[in-house]
Amino acid sequence: VRSEFDFIDQIRSRYALGRIGDDCAVLPKDAETDMLVTADLLVEDIDFRLDWTTPEFLGHRSLAVSLSDVAAMGAAPTHALLSLGVPEALWKTDFLNRFYGGWHELARKHAVELVGGDISRSPDKLFIDSIVFGEVARGKAVLRSGANAGDLIFVTGFLGGAAAGLELLRTGTVLGPEISVTGRHLLLKQLQPIPQVQTGKLLTEYNLATSLIDLSDGLSSDLSHVAAASGVGATINADVVPIDPAIFDISSLHTQELDLALNGGEDYELLLTVAPHNAHIALDLGFHHIGEITDSAGKLELLHDGISESFFPKGFRHF
Ligand code: ADP
Ligand code: MG
Repeated sequence: VRSEFDFIDQIRSRYALGRIGDDCAVLPKDAETDMLVTADLLVEDIDFRLDWTTPEFLGHRSLAVSLSDVAAMGAAPTHALLSLGVPEALWKTDFLNRFYGGWHELARKHAVELVGGDISRSPDKLFIDSIVFGEVARGKAVLRSGANAGDLIFVTGFLGGAAAGLELLRTGTVLGPEISVTGRHLLLKQLQPIPQVQTGKLLTEYNLATSLIDLSDGLSSDLSHVAAASGVGATINADVVPIDPAIFDISSLHTQELDLALNGGEDYELLLTVAPHNAHIALDLGFHHIGEITDSAGKLELLHDGISESFFPKGFRHF
């Protein structure tokens, strides 16, 4: 059965669409600037559940996932389009006002202006189509394809928290007053993810990353996209992957911590590769060194307790 990634690859080669395949498309704007654009589709009961979130969180999240893709090019977000397919029952409530409230609060933080969109009625489920534009100095967008053998692999923050939060929601945890501090942290990682916008911009200013991607599908999947685009392999040291410490407080997730960090998606941290002579800068910025790029094209390896095993992409897939 073909995956969504195979399908996109097929379209790309059949119609020779060279701009498809990164977190954003890069379009020339003027002599100094390139324009970036990215689209995300969020479908009720596939990408979110209304009974697990709030309208404000969902508005925030719809923008955050696209801001993260702009950050994943080392660019600054500027404008957005937001289109909705809304079931009639939801239209009659205050849902949309609250949704736009959550959306706008995040937009204001990053000076992103809503410049349009579309609204239609949907028979049953809510559909959200988020498009965000960004800008970067001409030729400076950081692609997935720039990793070189010998580069060091870093992630910008702790992993697994959002997937742990999803697991808590699945097993009936709600964001009520009785929840523990760590439980609340994990639910918010899932419901209200924080895109790494400032860090993305910093990376181009410092010329630090040879390649860059955001962690939306999970470390194993997203790393495999970088490896494929760059024609390289990678070794990850599982013993130093920064697992979100809150996960260790949840007894029902005991023994799953590493799996959540390696394969759980939606943390929206950045994964970057850095030339060895710049490694000290990445460390000074507080990034976590988790592995190395190798010259074994397409081959991912996981070192765990001194043992090396094959590391297969196991992250989130729609198909
Ligand atoms: P991300 O997780 O960074 O949002 P995706 O995995 O959704 O990226 O998509 C991978 C690449 O495929 C991106 O460049 C995206 O623009 C492109 N893509 C996804 N869906 C389609 C589609 N239906 N038609 C054309 N390109 C698509
Ligand atoms: Mg992405």
